[in-house]
This record gives sequence, structure tokens and C-alpha cells, in this order.
Amino acid sequence: MSNDQQPIIILSGVELRAWLKSRRLQSPGAVVGFVPTMGFLHEGHASLLTAARQSCDIVVLSIFVNPLQFGPNEDFERYPRDEQRDLAIAAEYGADVVFMPQVEEMYPERTRTTVTVSGVTERLCGASRPGHFDGVATVVTKLFNLVQPDRAYFGLKDAQQVAVIEQMVRDLNVPVEIVPCATVREADGLAKSSRNVYLSAEEREQAVILNKALREAEQQLRTQRDAMSSQELAAQVTARIQEAPLARIDYVEALAYPSLEPISSFTEAEQALIAVAVKFGNTRLIDNCLIRFNG
Ligand code: AMP
Repeated sequence: MSNDQQPIIILSGVELRAWLKSRRLQSPGAVVGFVPTMGFLHEGHASLLTAARQSCDIVVLSIFVNPLQFGPNEDFERYPRDEQRDLAIAAEYGADVVFMPQVEEMYPERTRTTVTVSGVTERLCGASRPGHFDGVATVVTKLFNLVQPDRAYFGLKDAQQVAVIEQMVRDLNVPVEIVPCATVREADGLAKSSRNVYLSAEEREQAVILNKALREAEQQLRTQRDAMSSQELAAQVTARIQEAPLARIDYVEALAYPSLEPISSFTEAEQALIAVAVKFGNTRLIDNCLIRFNG
């Protein structure tokens, strides 16, 4: 799905606002769709662009590796980047504008305001990456203020991120509709991720265990919903992942979704999220399975 045109590349927030203002004047009532990313685009990102293109008049893609959401010992410096390839994918999937600010543009001086979402950030990546979701919520707020989109598209690959952004938007009355999109996977089931390029051939082969373990757990939960506790389910997923010798588990948890609170009984939950974070070498992969009971 292409708009047959090269997207306009914008580096500054002032220019982005001016461009959007003139487009909105030209086309009153135009629906603006927004896809925020950190670049090194793959089919997962492309699926968000496709969803935005299908239901919006103007599609804004942002590419910004946000230092605020990386911890001191994380991979901010070595996060993969490929601007030319990203721009080709942006064009192919119909982005009208690509906003690619430098760090100094987004954070011209020391940031003194951050957005903190409590509750939904207490577990999973919120617990294992302290400050991560403050960085996410802060940059997404800034991007929302610059773009003022009608709809914003996020992948359920990062299900906790979706829960955090939805909570923030509700709490702060941000006038945007959050559109969660399904996880796009490789043919063997590994969730597409910019970080997959870090994996050695052996790690890549073993990484399919994440999806396998999650699918098996989903199957079991759907057939034995009232017979399993969340601890049993997590223990089972943990044991399955540990069959891969190179896997080092960060967390495996089954929680209620979107509250991300512990589940005492699956029969009471409407939605459950089984989420995993696993390191292969220096590469930390996350994946999850969101189960909607009753349909
Ligand atoms: P990132 O560039 O990793 O910050 O991701 C940007 C957006 O793309 C986020 O909303 C992610 O959840 C989404 N995304 C990343 N990987 C996938 C995937 N495999 N399937 C669907 N969405 C994805």
C-alpha cells in the first residue's frame, strides 16, 4: 500500500507543526494517523503504517531512538540504525511525513518534566528496566503534542507499553485514539524485532522457544482454564524456555490485562497476558500472548 510519493522528511518540531497546520487547513477534517518508532523498520512497523494508511488521511511516522527510555547499561549507543532503508520502507507503506528529530531537538536542555504512569508499570519491563516507562510516556507525550494525531498505532508485541499509553491517555485526557495492532512474526514464529539482528545463528535458532512456549501455554489455558494457577502456568513456560541452553530468563509472568495485576483465578479474568523477557547473549527479547476469554 503506497501513496506513490516519497514522504517528506522533517527534522524539527517547529517545521512539523507548520507542515501539519497547512495540511489541516488544506483538508479540513482530515484524520491524522501517527506511528511512533525507533527505526530499523521491519514488517511489524510496516503493519502499523498499513493500518494507519487504511483509516487515516495523513500518516505521520516518527523515527527517534529515545535515550530517556534506555537504562545506563542498555543498548542505546548500539541500537541498530539504517536511515536509507527506513525511508524506503516509509515510502513503500505510504507515510506522508517522516519526523526524524535529533536528540538535541527533543531534549534541548536537561529535561525537568517527565511523565510517570503508576500501577501498570510495576511489573514486567517496568520492574526489570527501572525508568523505562517514564522515558516512553514522556517521549510519547511530547510526540503526541507535536503531531496531535487523531489515532496512534502501537504494536501488541509491547503489550505493557500499550497498557501504559492507554492509561496515560485516559488519565491526562489526551485526545487521541490508541489503536493496538497484532504482533507480526517470522515464518518460524519469532516476533519481529529490530534487535533480532544482534542474534548469532545459534541464538536465532533457539529464540523460537519463546513463541513455542507461549503458544503451548495458551493452548493449555484455553482447555484447562479453571484448573491452572498463574504460578503453575508461569513455571511451565519457564521450564519450556529453559530447554534452550542459551536462554537466560529475565521474567515470565501471567497477569490480568490491561491492569497488569496478579491473577488469582483465570476464570475471573477477561483477558490474561503471558509475558516473557529472555536474554540470548547480550540481546534481550520480549514476547507475549494476550488471551481474550469469551471470544
Ligand atoms: P520500536 O521501534 O521497537 O519502538 O517499535 C515501534 C512500534 O512498533 C511499537 O508500537 C511496537 O510495539 C511496534 N512493533 C515492534 N515490533 C512489532 C511486531 N513484531 N509486530 C507488531 N508491532 C511491532
